[in-house]
Amino acid sequence: MAQIIFLGTAGSAAVASKNLRSSGGIILKIDDAFQFHLDPGPGALLKTREYGVNPHNTTAVLVTHNHINHCNDLNLVIEAMTHSGLERRGVVLGSKSVLQSGEDSHPFITRYHQNLVERVIPLEKNHKIAFESVEIHTIPVEHADQTAVGFKLFCPGFVVSYPGDTLFTPQLLESLSGTDVLILNVPYPGKRAQGLNLDSDAAMKIIDHVKPRLAVITHFGLEMLKADPMHEARLIQQATGIQTIAASDGLTISPTGYGNYHSPVKGF
Ligand SMILES: [Zn+2]
Repeated sequence: MAQIIFLGTAGSAAVASKNLRSSGGIILKIDDAFQFHLDPGPGALLKTREYGVNPHNTTAVLVTHNHINHCNDLNLVIEAMTHSGLERRGVVLGSKSVLQSGEDSHPFITRYHQNLVERVIPLEKNHKIAFESVEIHTIPVEHADQTAVGFKLFCPGFVVSYPGDTLFTPQLLESLSGTDVLILNVPYPGKRAQGLNLDSDAAMKIIDHVKPRLAVITHFGLEMLKADPMHEARLIQQATGIQTIAASDGLTISPTGYGNYHSPVKGF
């Protein structure tokens, strides 16, 4: 049975540091076949244990960009996945900012941890790669980290998309079409987005256009928490007619009931 587990739903350092919500990313599990850990932010390892996820079973870690609330625990998660290097296993995929040196930046992954895993795969926008029974397409997103990428995962039976942090753009809409379960980072309520991020109004437009079978909003900032994510989700659902829920820490959903996609992809 497939499961999506939200280890944390904090969308800003303020929310995480006040302990209003946890961070730690999202787990996607398909039976015993694979376990993906998306955006392992602060507390990722701690939260896997709290929510009954075995971090050693992780087969791939996917990171959208180099902001600390998305990748802080990347190296720790790799330690857990490989038993501190006793077993060389697992794949790390993500933005170049996290996995490669830039002109004035160093990668978030350490050289030591790069050597613990089987493969490290820096991804471009509009990249396609097959991994296990999943086809991974990157979503072209626009964020402060210019190398940021989102993930569209063609899993057996359903398609789940997680753009990560991004601005609303026409390319984003296009790349999300055919998504069954859409997970959106919505740090701001109403029309109050700041920086290159989404607010509820933008989320509503995306959900209305993409028409997933299920939309989940997560990654909440302080203003969003004040406005109440459940209330915002209800407004989106009323306006779009699409089932929309607000994630809470530890929320587990079963995506298989929401898809009709069958992947022919096998292996790398
Ligand atoms: Zn960010």
